[in-house]
Amino acid sequence: MIPVMIPMLGEEEAQAAADAVRSGWVAQGPRVKQFEQEFAATVGAGHGVAVSSCTTGLHLSLVLLDLRPGDEVIVPSLSFIATANAVRYVGATPIFADVDLATGNLTVDTIDAVRTDRTRAIIAVHQGGVPFDTAAVRKAAADWGVALVEDAACAAGSTVYGQPAGTGAAIAAWSFHPRKVLTTGEGGMVTVDDAEVAVRLRRLREHGMNVSAADRHASSQPVLEAYLETAYNYRMTDIQAAVGLVQLGRLAGLVTQRRELAARYQELLSGIDGLVPVRDPAHGTTNFQSFWVLIDRPYRTGRDDVLAELATRGVSARRGIMASHLEPAYADVTPGPLPVTERITRDSLILPLHHKVTEDDQQFIVDILRELA
Ligand SMILES: *Cc1c(COP(=O)(O)O)cnc(C)c1O
Repeated sequence: MIPVMIPMLGEEEAQAAADAVRSGWVAQGPRVKQFEQEFAATVGAGHGVAVSSCTTGLHLSLVLLDLRPGDEVIVPSLSFIATANAVRYVGATPIFADVDLATGNLTVDTIDAVRTDRTRAIIAVHQGGVPFDTAAVRKAAADWGVALVEDAACAAGSTVYGQPAGTGAAIAAWSFHPRKVLTTGEGGMVTVDDAEVAVRLRRLREHGMNVSAADRHASSQPVLEAYLETAYNYRMTDIQAAVGLVQLGRLAGLVTQRRELAARYQELLSGIDGLVPVRDPAHGTTNFQSFWVLIDRPYRTGRDDVLAELATRGVSARRGIMASHLEPAYADVTPGPLPVTERITRDSLILPLHHKVTEDDQQFIVDILRELA
């Protein structure tokens, strides 16, 4: 079986996790702090605040905005469902916008099409690692006076306008789930440009405490903490951060390898009419966290039949990115027309791409796709 994704975890990660355990400090501590600093530097952000997942990071990002029932937050339906769910966590209403066919991302036009006077924020996603046009969307959001949260769950190692995705973002949330390029098991990060915002986020992830447990324990004098607001326990552990620090050292190499494998897929697929592989957008480069292929005419086999045939031959491909508005959890929502979203989610599939995929695997997979054409 060729899996769609396997995390690249080596002896170094095992050793780092063991060292953290042996140190006796396993909750959020010095390794989390170091991971925050190194991750923020890697993605070009001012400050990093480690959290338990990207989902909880998105939640905290929206808590910062003080949203109320009736407030609208524009999100792509074409995203992992956590993007839309985060809006509901704070009692606001997710408004689904359509995406661009080539990138799978929101654009200024698709956002503007669903914008109302109740729009308070936008969550724009770097879908599958393909960066959205940050220059255009950040400017539009600023012009409209609407907050922009960047869902960078998939974007570690992607670039926009020559800089790491995350550079210049007011707030971005990242994921370290094993399905992503860089993993800590579970885990996430919120990066921000403003030091004050980072302070508030650190408090929000740790019960609203004005001094972290780690700092309290490090002090030689008793420190009496205060709880300044009702908040959450969304902390990352030092065991996870220890793994993350090793993974961070691998990031550039992993992305280079993914891009080489993706280029090879693109070349092999170019001979088959009606299969359109994802590519770098004009404004940046993708880490190819998800290598998706859109099925178009004259290709003759439907997506689900392609997936079934691949599975029969031992290839674990996946349906393309989900559309949240088609899930039962959002059955009570009637969005405007989302033709591109529905087309991508219906007609695309994600091919195996990871450090153990060989050239023979790629040839084998593409040969099956050619047969089905
Ligand atoms: C994976 C993913 C998430 C959720 O990340 P977790 O760390 O698993 O919570 C959110 N948004 C997008 C776009 C994702 O791909």
